[in-house]
Amino acid sequence: MAAEFIRIWVEEDIEQLSKQLLIVGESFSDCGNCRHLGLDFAQTRTCPECKVEFKFVTSRYAGGGAAERFRWLRKIKSKRPDLKFIDYDDYERNRARIRARDIFK
Ligand SMILES: [Zn+2]
Repeated sequence: MAAEFIRIWVEEDIEQLSKQLLIVGESFSDCGNCRHLGLDFAQTRTCPECKVEFKFVTSRYAGGGAAERFRWLRKIKSKRPDLKFIDYDDYERNRARIRARDIFK
């Protein structure tokens, strides 16, 4: 039986999620809470800077139209099955909406 990736939509508090998010980049990853750079996504359980415990993961390389999306998904999920994978476009869209809302506060 071959397992494939499929999206399941859930409701999450985006501001809370951002604080527990590991953002995977080409060579290094960064902390969604304090933006600390240079993390190894495969090894890092907590941010060395702000000490947050990561529960979610995303990568801009696994965004909506990216041809490389599934290669990155497999790479990340194989190393970090403990983290919930967040769609990068969903994350960015919601962050932009929150930023726009905060401007008018
Ligand atoms: Zn941090």
